[in-house]
Amino acid sequence: MTRINFSNGVKRTLAERNGFRCSFPGCDSATIGPGATPQDVISTGVAAHIHSASPGGPRGQATLAPQDLHSIRNALWLCANHARVVDAKRGAEFPATLLHSFKTAHEARIAFEQRGVSFKFGWLQSLVVQESPLFTPGSRLDFGRTTIIVGRNASGKTALCEWLAGCTEISFLKRWSPIGKKRKRTQVRYEALNPLPLAWTVRIYEKNNIQFDVDGLATPRLNVPFVFIHAPERPYRRNPEDETISAYLARWLRIDVALVHNIVRSLATRGGHHIHNPHFVKQNDQEALLVDVDGTRPGLDFHDLSDTEQIRVVIEMAVELARFEAERQPTILLVDCMARFDCRHFQDYADFIAAQTRQFQAVVTAVVEDTLPAVSPLDGLHVARLRGNVADVTIE
Ligand SMILES: [Zn+2]
Repeated sequence: MTRINFSNGVKRTLAERNGFRCSFPGCDSATIGPGATPQDVISTGVAAHIHSASPGGPRGQATLAPQDLHSIRNALWLCANHARVVDAKRGAEFPATLLHSFKTAHEARIAFEQRGVSFKFGWLQSLVVQESPLFTPGSRLDFGRTTIIVGRNASGKTALCEWLAGCTEISFLKRWSPIGKKRKRTQVRYEALNPLPLAWTVRIYEKNNIQFDVDGLATPRLNVPFVFIHAPERPYRRNPEDETISAYLARWLRIDVALVHNIVRSLATRGGHHIHNPHFVKQNDQEALLVDVDGTRPGLDFHDLSDTEQIRVVIEMAVELARFEAERQPTILLVDCMARFDCRHFQDYADFIAAQTRQFQAVVTAVVEDTLPAVSPLDGLHVARLRGNVADVTIE
């Protein structure tokens, strides 16, 4: 295959969409300006390739067809200097997902500037495990709009989700405090665009000694401008006499019981994917959650749903909350509860979640790989694979 170049039309549209400014974070250089004579214009911008123009180029071509490689979705607007920077060392420091994040962040910023409103745009770029009981030190996870983490059981998928969720809800981090002398402490670094680069570090020494640095400075609390919403594996169901259904769902999602009631009301109003008309009622002095799940009799009690049907209800509640939060601040939805779904249900929900990521980023865990959603890497799907054994797991 020969080198694939962008058409002049693609270059022009890309430059315009980016306000003729470099999209490398923090650069923002003008790439167009006056030339020597009153009629002249000098353009110094470059339409860089995210996936490579030629088969042996930086970052490779993934599995993209020629028409995808020269589409505008594969193009990034940069100043001449940064066009060289991203391709140096064969692009090793700038993987495709990272360049997609530059593009998304910059275009969002231009759109907001054009409308003249202040905006809250954020993009989670990557997580680096610097020290942990599970991963090879330095293991790095890059994020797309939708990131699927594939790994067998006990390979670290839940750990990664909890280290992310812990940025909003510290109780997720406490579980990772070292036990005895054997287990290592955990140190994780996060990189984001907000829209300028922002990095923070979490160090878990022990349950009551969890330290945070934001941009290199020690902070009392981790108040980064990102919200993480976590749908973890279902927790053990206590005796229903002791725990109401709303308290159980609150414990599952680690949110307040009042918030559970409000999410259910909101989901009932806006409508879900396969879950409709959820509502709490009193039955024999007991609280019950009744829902219509596609494919079952309408109005079933949550307790009478199958395992996977209950998980579907929880996922749709988490999506509903993520939609709401994303209108206010950058949001990342974590879904780590689909391990028991069959392929058809997994794919259906992965596609549903990926379709929501115009509004927020999502991270979904999977045990097997034949269930990936039908999204293209150019639309922001990133697949990360966990390999190896405990203490030495790597991320590819
Ligand atoms: Zn630049």
